[in-house]
Amino acid sequence: MDVVVAAGGQGRRLGGAVAKQWLSLGDRTIFERSVAACAASSRVRGVVAVVPAADLEAARVLAAAAAGSKLIAVVAGGERRQDSVAAGLRAVPHDAHVVLVHDAARPFVTDGIIGRVIDAAAHGGAAIAAARVHDTVKHIACEDGQRWIDGTIPRDELALAQTPQGFRRDVLDAMLPVMTSAVDVTDEASLAEHLGHRVEVVDGHPDNVKITTEDDLVRARRALGNDGAHGAATMRIGLGYDSHRFADGRRLVVGGVHVPDQAGLAGHSDGDAVCHAITDAVLGAAGLGDVGGLFPDTDPAWKDADSLALLRDAFARVRAAGWRLGNLDLVVICHRPKIGRIADALRASLAGALDTTPDRISVKGKTPEGTAALEDAMIVHAVALLER
Ligand code: MG
Repeated sequence: MDVVVAAGGQGRRLGGAVAKQWLSLGDRTIFERSVAACAASSRVRGVVAVVPAADLEAARVLAAAAAGSKLIAVVAGGERRQDSVAAGLRAVPHDAHVVLVHDAARPFVTDGIIGRVIDAAAHGGAAIAAARVHDTVKHIACEDGQRWIDGTIPRDELALAQTPQGFRRDVLDAMLPVMTSAVDVTDEASLAEHLGHRVEVVDGHPDNVKITTEDDLVRARRALGNDGAHGAATMRIGLGYDSHRFADGRRLVVGGVHVPDQAGLAGHSDGDAVCHAITDAVLGAAGLGDVGGLFPDTDPAWKDADSLALLRDAFARVRAAGWRLGNLDLVVICHRPKIGRIADALRASLAGALDTTPDRISVKGKTPEGTAALEDAMIVHAVALLER
């Protein structure tokens, strides 16, 4: 049994400049996950992937990594979906008794679904995975902008078509000439129907979704984050802490904001404890080390350094690793300056460095309340949430 993974589409609705099969889902693209899911099935012997001609080279690398020794070929697709599928089917070895066609936008297909389609196609000639309909389905009439129900459709007569769709070799050989003709078909099963074959329906699964809209992508990424077996997390949290003593003769810089007429903070850099705590929080969340490792205070390069610039540099690394800031919460403990008075300037300054908006940043000032050990210092706690 071989599978054709159809990724020939140029659908850019989701990702703007990138066709949807190349968008990332956790640590891999949607395409790689679909290819890997098919190759992982014990029932599947080989995988053929069909991709846009312009993406052939890159896709070969991804498909080889995802399918391993089960990869048969990566071929260029055609104008219509059916032309792409036909190109894939021609690359399948002729001794394949049953061939499945699977949409690359369905990365959550399971071994169970694949097995059911193979068994039904081997037996009856053609089969399709489909999800049952659980909602009540209404037929809607529409006139002059008004919509009303004019019937209730029995839901046990309905199914939502999924892939894989499977075909026995003799059925496939009959389908291929029509597939490459002028007749337009929406999916392979409808072509088999058109040729008079009975297409058996087997249970798919509601999780075997087709990623079509931005909402689908968000839900799919969330599903990955909640299930370690699927791959990488979609959220991570980091904690940062710093404290610096006040010292005469230094400029006071808090979160990149210069506060005039106040004693500054001691330190090798400009002493900006707020920036240091945040740098540790975002680096920690991304698993990229800490501020002391990136900008050691033994290195003269960082003497009197602008800590807001260091934060910007660190956050660029976090962005490069695929993360953006979800939100940041700060507690700043000191007698002076009054944090409430500079909070808005602080949030604006930090938002600039963290490539976000001030509404995602919270700053809370606390006074030491007579705790002697804290009298002469600024102490900062920061918690950062990163998302992808
Ligand atoms: Mg520090």
